[in-house]
Amino acid sequence: MLDERPCPLCRGAGETLVASERTCHSCGGTGRDRRSSTDDPRFSADTCQACHGYGVETSREFQLCPSCNGRGSIPG
Ligand SMILES: [Zn+2]
Ligand SMILES: [Zn+2]
Repeated sequence: MLDERPCPLCRGAGETLVASERTCHSCGGTGRDRRSSTDDPRFSADTCQACHGYGVETSREFQLCPSCNGRGSIPG
């Protein structure tokens, strides 16, 4: 007899929002942009505007909940 209860990690949604970091596609991880795309003096010309100099871009996406495998409930 299986007693199921809502998954505490995704609260029964079956998916969870995770943040992932990946190498910036604009600067290749260097954080610098050699191609100056703007003349705006507020922005440094050689700082990558896509990652703001960090070299990584952070994205958030829904992934299948690892706790309940997308079922939304786990055995109690
Ligand atoms: Zn970048
Ligand atoms: Zn879950």
